[in-house]
Amino acid sequence: MEKQQLLYKGKAKSVYETTDTDYLILHFRDDTSAFNGERVEQLARKGQVNNKFNAYIMQKLAEGGVETHFEKQLSDDEVLVKRLEMIPVECVVRNYSAGSMVRRLGVEEGMKLTPPTYELFYKDDALGDPMVNESQSIALGWATAEQLADMKALTFKVNEILTELFDQGGMILVDFKLEFGVFKDRIVLGDEFSPDGCRIWDKETKKKLDKDRFRQSLGDVIEAYEEVANRLGIEL
Ligand code: 5GP
Repeated sequence: MEKQQLLYKGKAKSVYETTDTDYLILHFRDDTSAFNGERVEQLARKGQVNNKFNAYIMQKLAEGGVETHFEKQLSDDEVLVKRLEMIPVECVVRNYSAGSMVRRLGVEEGMKLTPPTYELFYKDDALGDPMVNESQSIALGWATAEQLADMKALTFKVNEILTELFDQGGMILVDFKLEFGVFKDRIVLGDEFSPDGCRIWDKETKKKLDKDRFRQSLGDVIEAYEEVANRLGIEL
C-alpha cells in the first residue's frame, strides 16, 4: 500500500490517502497546540512519542474488545488506519473534576466523580467545540440514537480498561476525549489516544503528566509523556 496525497492537515496530525480506499496513513507531527490553536509550538519527539503511545493503547483496547481503526505502526511517526466516516461529536469521560468542568461549574479540581460523568462536544474549531447533548446530535444529523448509544458504551468500556492500566503504573486517568467513526456500518474508535487528549496524574503526588503541562506552561511536557510511557512499559 502506497502513501498518496495529503487529505487533511489537523492541529497535530496529517492524514494521507493510500492506494487502498479503505485505509489512510496518519502522520503524527511535533506541533503542539492549545486554546483552540491560538498557541502552537514544536515539541521535539512529540510525534514519535504519541505515535508509539497510541499504538500501544489502541492494541490494548482491541484486546479488551473495543474495535479501533489501528492497523499497523509504519514508522516512528506514522500509522496505518482504517478509513472511517468520522462522527463530528467528541465523547468525554471524567473520573475526577478538572479542565472545562472546573471552569464551567466552579467546582474544585480533583473531586472524584461517582459515577464518572459523560459529555459530548461538537467538533468545530470555529465554534470552539461547544458542549452538545444527544438530542441535538440526533436532530442535527451528526449521529443516530443507535450510534450514540454504541459510542457511550464503548467510551465507558475504554474507561474501564484504561483506568486499570494507568492504575497499574501508579497513575490516575482523570479524563479523556475519544472520537468515533463508521467503518462498514460499525462504530469504530478513531483519532488517537495519547497524553494530548487525556489527563493523567501521578497517584501519590498528583503531578500532571499530560498536555496540561503545555496548557499551563509547567515545562517538561514531553519528558512527562515519556515518563507515562515508561511506566506503562511502552518502548519508545
Ligand atoms: P476539557 O473539556 O476539560 O477541556 O477536556 C476534557 C478532556 O478531553 C481532556 O483530557 C482534554 O485533553 C480532552 N479534550 C477535549 N477536547 C479536546 C480536543 O479538541 N483535542 C484534544 N487533543 N483533547 C481534547
